[in-house]
Amino acid sequence: MTREGAQAAPSGDARSEPQARERPPRWIDSHAHVTAREFDADRDDALARAFAGGVDALIAIGAGYGVEANAEAVALAARDDRVWAAVGVHPHDAALLDDAGRAKLAGWLAAPRVVAVGECGLDYFYMHSPRDVQQRVFAEQLGLARERGLPVVIHVRSEDESAYEHLLAIWNAEGGGALRGVLHCYTGSLAFAKRALDRGLEVSFSGILTFKKDRGLREVARALPLERLLVETDAPLLAPEGQRGRRNEPAWVAKVGEVLASVQGRPVDEVAAVTSANARRLFGLSECTDLRGAA
Ligand SMILES: [Zn+2]
Ligand SMILES: [Zn+2]
Repeated sequence: MTREGAQAAPSGDARSEPQARERPPRWIDSHAHVTAREFDADRDDALARAFAGGVDALIAIGAGYGVEANAEAVALAARDDRVWAAVGVHPHDAALLDDAGRAKLAGWLAAPRVVAVGECGLDYFYMHSPRDVQQRVFAEQLGLARERGLPVVIHVRSEDESAYEHLLAIWNAEGGGALRGVLHCYTGSLAFAKRALDRGLEVSFSGILTFKKDRGLREVARALPLERLLVETDAPLLAPEGQRGRRNEPAWVAKVGEVLASVQGRPVDEVAAVTSANARRLFGLSECTDLRGAA
């Protein structure tokens, strides 16, 4: 804006206040499968929309599309300084992990900008791999995280509480409070979430929090401490209310954060700042991710 002839504003106030208010909240999408096929046609555009629309950084999850898919997440993180990668074996793929896969996993985990192991865990809902194999491969990945001092991105799903109970038992047996991690796309009970927080886990909410039929999830989100919460899209899945049925994308992580702010009765700016700080702390991300802006 230029206003020729206007008198110089008194130094100070005309600058700082309006600008501070107009700056959109800045989010971190703590879980996005941006290397999935669904983004092949417009991956760069989808990332550009996210970064232009308030996303400071995202964690690219390689797991979930076969063991090999991790390589693409590592490569994407290497070429964009706003992207970090998590590398692991999804419970669906647990039965696919063999020695060749283990060797590749070790190599990817040593790559720069790989900040977490996962997503890994237990999924008794789809049961694409047998339970005992899922449990063994989950425990194995907790061992990798422990050896490398990395946090763990955890997936858990079952009709009843069984996967949750088995998951926490394995977590405790493999180091529990000495490990760090996040239960991603949380849809479990409040009681379980509290037990998980006590054992050093954080909780992340996805677009499910925005659904009209949220099955009580907003009550869970209301009762948990914001200082232990993250937000995510889990894109390309789980597009938020208003976009359901479409491909999800990282730009829409703000919709999750806005609902979290409303259920917690806090300003959106505060929820953006606190969840972003939580993600940075958990994944060890540097404070200034967009160095281009500082140049
Ligand atoms: Zn998952
Ligand atoms: Zn996922």
